[in-house]
Amino acid sequence: MRRIQRRAASVALLVLAIAGLLGLYILRFALHGGEWAGFPSNGDAFISGRIRAGTVVDRDGETLYCVRDGEGHWSEDLNTRLASLHLIGDGAGFVGSGALFNYAGEILGYDPINGLYSASGGGGTLTLSVDADAQRAAWEAMKGRSGAVVVADYVTGEILCSVSAPSFDPEDPSGADTDIQGLYMSRPLSAAYAPGSVFKLVTLAAAIENIDGLFDRDFHCSGSLEVGGGRVTCTGKHGDMKIEDALAKSCNCVFAQLALELGGETLQKYADQFGLTSRQEVDGLRTAAGRFDTAPEGSLNLAWSGAGQYNDMVNPIAMARYVCAIANRGDAPRLTQRKNASRLGVEYDHILSADTAEKLSDIMDYAVRLTYGSENYPGLAIRAKSGTAEVGSGKPNAWFVGFLDDPEHPYAFAVCLEDAGFGSSQAGPVANAVLQSLVK
Ligand SMILES: [Zn+2]
Repeated sequence: MRRIQRRAASVALLVLAIAGLLGLYILRFALHGGEWAGFPSNGDAFISGRIRAGTVVDRDGETLYCVRDGEGHWSEDLNTRLASLHLIGDGAGFVGSGALFNYAGEILGYDPINGLYSASGGGGTLTLSVDADAQRAAWEAMKGRSGAVVVADYVTGEILCSVSAPSFDPEDPSGADTDIQGLYMSRPLSAAYAPGSVFKLVTLAAAIENIDGLFDRDFHCSGSLEVGGGRVTCTGKHGDMKIEDALAKSCNCVFAQLALELGGETLQKYADQFGLTSRQEVDGLRTAAGRFDTAPEGSLNLAWSGAGQYNDMVNPIAMARYVCAIANRGDAPRLTQRKNASRLGVEYDHILSADTAEKLSDIMDYAVRLTYGSENYPGLAIRAKSGTAEVGSGKPNAWFVGFLDDPEHPYAFAVCLEDAGFGSSQAGPVANAVLQSLVK
């Protein structure tokens, strides 16, 4: 009798274990089924690398990818295809950042009850947060130059524009020049560039919070500053100025002086706090990490590091996120490439005090009026900072970052063009073209 009880107990335990494992499997299936179904080796879902069902559209419903007669096709417009390649992906799966690869389950219309395709059999629809008009405007304004353009809504965190150049036509990949370095790489996500003077927005934040009387102080630039056996130079003599002029004129000598007073550890702390040295997450994709090295006290390297040179590196999306925080009283929203991802509420990281953010914002407004020219950005309440980053041989990288101080159009942007020359004259017009297309 006792033996039977023991056996009954063993059977009960076994049944429980099986039920538990089955439960776990169902849970994992519900959570990950879409990924499993969307795995590129699944023959039901892919034909020679191309998803065989589903549609990808922009925020206004414009088709960026669809399936016709069993074949995948990209936008009918060439510039839209070129501008959005790194967002959508190519047919062969070389572009790892693409939605076709990363959100395959969603595009196929996978659901755990009915299986692979949605009830209609036509697959699902993935609505990206980007605006196809802005994608085209950025691509056209880049005029064949390599680089990254990112625009994000600083209230919702939705990415409205994300363009990476160079690119190729996914409808005709045989025309791709595969000798080009980083052709398949999404520069907004995966590049890290020397920031040059856009990094002064970091040094300035640290100075506002750590140097007493900063706004009352008189600064002077004689064109160069002797530091640690070398010299920091400006393009000209900026003369006497207040801190807001130092940013608007992008005076290296003043920012070198501030870096020396703040010290490398303090600058490092702010670069870390603003997320510029770590990898940022966008819908599960990771950006490249930037870099800031703490140079020795009193050194020439420390001086240059405060002006965005030395070993400083930043990723374009991470830079745009920092600008979002300046625009949004210190709150950086979680960035997303999906429209309405924030329906359940936007999550923010408070990375900057509201007071410091407001001071930075006002000085960026002053910089536009004094240096960049409001007339170059007609109708836009733009606040910005340019950067011209020396990168050894060749022309500098041209940066322009900022935002619109406009509740109806809360857009923050980061533009970086490689080997392009001056920040405001080269990257500025690209920012203007994209923003004009978005406020229309
Ligand atoms: Zn100067």
